[in-house]
Amino acid sequence: MPNDPEKRHAEPTTFEDLPLHPTIRAGVRELGYTEPTPIQSRTIPDAVLGRDLIGTAQTGTGKTAAFLLPILERLLDHPNGRILALVLTPTRELALQANEFLDKLGRHTRLHGAAVYGGVGMGEQERALRGGAEIVVATPGRLLDHMSRGYVNFTNLEILVLDEADRMLDMGFLPDVRRILSRLPRRRQTMLFSATMPPEVVRLARDFLTEPKTVQVDPTAAAAVGVSHLALPVPTHLKTDLLVELLADQTMTSVLVFTRTKHRADRVARQLSLRGVGATVIHGDRSQAQRVKALEGFRTGHNRVLVATDIAARGIDVEGVSHVVNYDVPSEPDVYIHRVGRTARAQRLGDAFSLVGREEEDDLHRIEQRLGVEIRRAQVPGFDYKKPAADRVDSSAGQFRGGGGGGRRGERRGPPRERGRGRPPPRGRSGGGRPSAEPRRERRASW
Ligand code: AMP
Repeated sequence: MPNDPEKRHAEPTTFEDLPLHPTIRAGVRELGYTEPTPIQSRTIPDAVLGRDLIGTAQTGTGKTAAFLLPILERLLDHPNGRILALVLTPTRELALQANEFLDKLGRHTRLHGAAVYGGVGMGEQERALRGGAEIVVATPGRLLDHMSRGYVNFTNLEILVLDEADRMLDMGFLPDVRRILSRLPRRRQTMLFSATMPPEVVRLARDFLTEPKTVQVDPTAAAAVGVSHLALPVPTHLKTDLLVELLADQTMTSVLVFTRTKHRADRVARQLSLRGVGATVIHGDRSQAQRVKALEGFRTGHNRVLVATDIAARGIDVEGVSHVVNYDVPSEPDVYIHRVGRTARAQRLGDAFSLVGREEEDDLHRIEQRLGVEIRRAQVPGFDYKKPAADRVDSSAGQFRGGGGGGRRGERRGPPRERGRGRPPPRGRSGGGRPSAEPRRERRASW
C-alpha cells in the first residue's frame, strides 16, 4: 500500500479499498488475487456507480475482472433470471474464458452467467437466454442468430460491455455489434475495452457511450513490465531449426509460438511434432472441438508448445505461459505487444523471443520504437547459422525424433548469447546433452 494518502485515495491498491461486496471479495480471494491491477483500481470505483467507461488496455492487464467485478457488484441483489448484463467479445475462446472467470468470481453470489458462441449447438444457449442467466457473454454473430429467433429479451438490460473492440473491428464484427446495440435499451451503462483506439472504435464509443470516463493502461509499459525481450536474428529458412534448438531448453515449459498465417502455424506445428516436440495448433480454420482440444492439451501441459495465429490466440488465458516465441515478427507493433502480453500475465515474469529474418529487421525496429527500448540481439551458441537452405524438415524427421532437441548433438549450447553488446558470455549449460534443471530465473539472469 502506498504511503502517500493522496495516491491511495486516487487509486485503491488493495481489494479492501475497492467498493466490492464481501461475497465478491471472497471470490477474488479464492482466485489468489491480492492486489487489483492498475486497470482494476482505476475503473472499478466508477464502474460500480454505473458510469460509462472506456478502458484502453490489452489482454493480460486484468481487464476482464475490471468489468466482471462491477457487473457482479451492481447486479448482486437482482438474481432474477432475466438478462441484465451483456458482454460482447470477438472470439469464442474469450467468451468461454470470461464466462468461466465469471463463475469463479461470482461463486458466492446467486447470479448466473452463460456463454453464447458459434460452432456448437444452439439448444443449451437458447435455454440460458430464455431464462436463467443474468449475465450473457456472447460473440456477435451467434447472438444475432439467437436474436433473430425472437426469444432473446433485452428489456431489462442494465449493463453492456464491448470487450476487445479493436479486435471486433479487425474481424469485421462492427456492423453486427451496431445491429445488436440498436436493439438494446438506451438507458444502460456501457463499458468499452480496447487495446488500441482506431477511428472506427472511437466513432463507436461516441455513438453509444455517454460522458465516459477514460482509463488508459499504457500498453507499452504493460508489455515492458516483467517480460524480457530477446531478438534472435536467423536466416528465414533456419527458423524451425532454431526453434527446435530453443525448445531443447526444458525450462521452456509452456510456449506459445506465433506465426503470421494459418498455413505457417500448421506447418510449424507439424515440423515440431516430427522432431519430437509435443506441439499443438490453434487457428481460425480449426473446428471448435479441435480448438478446445488444443487448448486443453496446452493447459494441462500435455503439449508444451501451442502454435497459434494472432486472432486465434487473442485472449487465450493460459496460466503460466513461460515463453512467447514470435516465429514471425509481426509487422504491427501493437500485435507484438498483444503477443508478449500472453506471457508475464498480470505481473508474472516471462520471456519473449523473436526469430528475426533479415527482411523482418524493419518490423523489429518499429517495435523497438514503439516500446521505447532496444531489444537485445542474441545468438544461440552452437547453432549452425550457415546451414544450407535445403528444407531438411521432413527428411530429417527421424534423426530428431524423440530427442526433443535437434541440431547437431554434442554441440549444445547454452542460452542465446548476446551479440556485440559487451556483455559477459552467458553461463551456458555445460557440454552437450540436455539442459540441466537449473532454476530458470537464475539462468535467465545471464541472458
Ligand atoms: P485479462 O487481462 O483479463 O486477460 O487477465 C489476465 C490474467 O490476469 C488472467 O489470468 C487473470 O486471471 C489474471 N488477473 C486478473 N486480475 C488479477 C489480479 N488482481 N491479480 C492477479 N492476477 C489477476
